[in-house]
Order: sequence, then C-alpha cells, then structure tokens
Amino acid sequence: MARTQSRCGAPTAKGTRCRRLAMVDASRCDLHRGDWSSYTVQRRKDAEREAKARRGRG
Ligand SMILES: [Zn+2]
Repeated sequence: MARTQSRCGAPTAKGTRCRRLAMVDASRCDLHRGDWSSYTVQRRKDAEREAKARRGRG
C-alpha cells in the first residue's frame, strides 16, 4: 500500500489540532474517529432532545 496517511486534524480541548495519523479509510485518528460517527451523532441528538424535554416539563 503506497497510500499516504493524512493527519487527523480534529480540534482538541486545548484548541489545537490533533496531530495523530488518521486511520486508513477514515479522516480521523482512532481517538477522534468516534466523535462524528453516525452512531455517536445519533446518541448526541437523543441526549439533547431528552435534555430539552426535561427542561420543558420543568
Ligand atoms: Zn485525532
């Protein structure tokens, strides 16, 4: 495989960019790959919706 790996580049909590190598066939490293996977995004949306519902019930 002659494919060059790109950098992850995901923003970190420190405000810098992640400098780890991205996973093959992914744009993020193994640390950040999960952050924007459809599974994680769906879980985040569910959590936000639940939070809003609780607030509305108040
Ligand atoms: Zn990363």
